[in-house]
Amino acid sequence: MAVRGRARKKDHTPVMRQFLGAKGQHPDAIIFFRLGDFYEMFYDDAVRAAGILDIALTSRGTDPEGNKIPMAGVPYHAAAGYLAALLRHGEKVAICEQMAEPSSARAVVPREVVRVVTPGLCLEPDALDARAENFLVAATSDGGVAALELSTGTLRACVVELGPQWVGELVRLDPAEVLIESGARELEALCKQSLPRTALRSVELRGGAQALSELLSAEQAAELSSQEPAARAASLVLDYARAHQADSQIHQATLYTAGDRLVLDDAAVRNLELVRTLDGERRGSLLQLLDETKTAMGARALRSRLLEPLTDIERIRRRQDAVELFFADARCRDQARARLGEIGDLERLAVRTAVGLATPRDLGVIRNGLASAEVLHQELSTRPGSELDDSMASLEGADLCTDVLALLRAALVDEPPAIDRQGGIFADGHLAELDELRKLSTTAKDIVLDLERRERKRTGIGSLKIKFTRVFGYYIEITKSKLDAVPDDYVRKQTIANGERFITAELAELQDRILHADERARALESAAFLDLRQAIGDQAPRLHRLARIIASIDTSAALAEVAHCRGYVRPRVDASRELFLEDSRHPTVECYAAEDGFVPNTIALSPEGTRLMILTGPNMSGKSTAMRQAALAVIMAQAGGFVAAKSARIGIVDRVYTRVGASDHLARGQSTFMVEMMEASAILREATERSFVILDEIGRGTSTYDGLAIAWAVAEHLHDATRCRAIFATHYHELCELADRLDNAANYNVAAKEHDDSMVLLHQLVPGGSNRSYGLAVARLAGVPPVVLARAKTKLKELETRAEAAAVPQMPLFEAEPPPRSEVDATLEALDIERMTPVDALVTLARLRDLTRHDDE
Ligand code: ADP
Ligand code: MG
Repeated sequence: MAVRGRARKKDHTPVMRQFLGAKGQHPDAIIFFRLGDFYEMFYDDAVRAAGILDIALTSRGTDPEGNKIPMAGVPYHAAAGYLAALLRHGEKVAICEQMAEPSSARAVVPREVVRVVTPGLCLEPDALDARAENFLVAATSDGGVAALELSTGTLRACVVELGPQWVGELVRLDPAEVLIESGARELEALCKQSLPRTALRSVELRGGAQALSELLSAEQAAELSSQEPAARAASLVLDYARAHQADSQIHQATLYTAGDRLVLDDAAVRNLELVRTLDGERRGSLLQLLDETKTAMGARALRSRLLEPLTDIERIRRRQDAVELFFADARCRDQARARLGEIGDLERLAVRTAVGLATPRDLGVIRNGLASAEVLHQELSTRPGSELDDSMASLEGADLCTDVLALLRAALVDEPPAIDRQGGIFADGHLAELDELRKLSTTAKDIVLDLERRERKRTGIGSLKIKFTRVFGYYIEITKSKLDAVPDDYVRKQTIANGERFITAELAELQDRILHADERARALESAAFLDLRQAIGDQAPRLHRLARIIASIDTSAALAEVAHCRGYVRPRVDASRELFLEDSRHPTVECYAAEDGFVPNTIALSPEGTRLMILTGPNMSGKSTAMRQAALAVIMAQAGGFVAAKSARIGIVDRVYTRVGASDHLARGQSTFMVEMMEASAILREATERSFVILDEIGRGTSTYDGLAIAWAVAEHLHDATRCRAIFATHYHELCELADRLDNAANYNVAAKEHDDSMVLLHQLVPGGSNRSYGLAVARLAGVPPVVLARAKTKLKELETRAEAAAVPQMPLFEAEPPPRSEVDATLEALDIERMTPVDALVTLARLRDLTRHDDE
């Protein structure tokens, strides 16, 4: 067998043997196998990639059994986009390069896998969203979570209680790839459910905490013993990075705890549309609205500020101070933002430089960014009449990496090329030998020009030209009609359609000198570039620190810009448990949805006054909007920004919980009611006195009385036991009675005016309960035909009479049996007119007609 196996392997071509070797090293990756100007893929890789990339599947030769070898290829110069597409599909790609220029001397060019790229271990700008972090996350069964951002070289780890919080953490990180400790089935299931599109891998836990502790500050390393699970999760990540040759650029790690920040569960992140709308779009999200940042680093920082608002009052105030400075001084803001606009992604470029992926152009971007940072620093520190506040002080004492800037300024040409092999990288005067070679080459080229003039004169051929191509080198071109005049010492090189090409001894000699000098210059520049890149790469940690400061200034300036343009105000953030928003607005509805202008509303909750607000009102009146805008104000305030209101006071919130909407889970195959109950139970278990809870029509997913009973009990619990600030929107008017009974609850409704059957939505929050649902008026607004409305009106009267007759005098909900209901009643009550399509309406109508006929019989 062994002999046959060996013999068989020998039958593969040498190139295929190279491929099989690479595949053997990286069996789970698609091999990008460099063949000349293409990256080729073979066998199953080819089949898979062809499907994902929609490229042609061909074949190349046959295997030893005589079967065709499937092949698919992408051009070398366009590989980045294809690579990005494969990564988006969760694939790993191993890049196998030619390790020498192909030459005829050697039979096969040596090839090696130089890099393995996975969705979470990726430094390719094409595959990364410049404005969002790209996390590789690992999780252990004991709650360890570690997140690596390779493109910025940072790792963070924490311990999170398994369950909703854990899911919340994962959803917030929004990882590109997740590693789950092998055997942790439950985690895997949770992960598949909450991140259905993310690449998920099960990996063995091997290493100890050693690697992590080396990356931590001494202070944090000491804490490590109490954070065992975090350390284990970190070692999953570090092992994986090492296995993919990607561990060297990780330069910093931090341990964090959920308590340092405002906790948002995944429902809150999703329902409040913080970074994406419910449809998955960035447009329409809060982030999109607030993102006036000018740098990629700033955009990423803003995003993580929104997803991880603070709970520490001092830190929040410092951020607010920075925003206020730019808010108050428009000139300074404009100037700073213009400057920031010139700064490239120093953070990611520093890592690309450190790992040897940066191009000469990238180094040029670093140089320009550092130069602009220097000017920014100057402008900010010479602002007239400003005492230094914290954010600026950080820039004040910042290491501006002036030595790096000086080196790059001296070394590079103004616009360095995107490739490092063709020369043209270094400025004159930087490398003496290069200057010499360039002079040689230029002189020789001048002589060529001179030679052209001389030969024209000597031969009398005015159209004689000396030309150059990369393939043929220098030659003298003579058109057909002048061939008679060609001197004897011209040696013919090539015949072309309209003439011939010649060489002379002198031209050959010049060509030698030029090509030789050019080639030496290129080699010299390539080598010098590697040295320069290494030197800059060694400074990556310093560049990172500067990048963080720039990101923070950019974020502050952006928040100030938005606050200025949209009329936001600095909220007072304190240790109370107040929530007071005077004339507040919903930032995105105001901007994208409210065509006739947004009606501001004042929302006030306080521990001694109204803690629990029960909100009723017609459909479409603005209940959901009002409660969301309160939650968004809390998040924006604790992120350090201003809020959409006339004035605001926000006592620190530790968690924001939401239960909003009912439709978004359906796609995941969970029953709405089940999801509602899971979320409600998480809230009831975890919420504290400091939490802020918004519940939008909970209980809606089940039959009326179940739903009402549950809503009632949940509201009571929040009021009596949790004692947190909460807004509870409901279509159960019965709940209004609850507010009357409880000390710290109050009814509010969103007002509407009704004339006859028509209704005007005022979107105005007013005290008191509303006792009507305006369902018919909404149905009319929605365009339900008059005949149907008329019939529904009769039916409603009938139902109301019957209900009155059967009414239970008070509201002892849990003792009373529900009144007997006909199927017509049930159908009408269950109508969800907001969500009905015209066809639904007609079908329901037909059913109602059938039912009433039946009833009448
Ligand atoms: P509800 O939850 O009461 O059914 P929504 O909060 O979903 O109503 O609001 C429905 C629509 O009404 C929103 O999409 C928005 O366009 C508009 N709206 C809500 N509140 C306001 C407001 N305060 N001012 C102006 N338009 C509003
Ligand atoms: Mg609503």
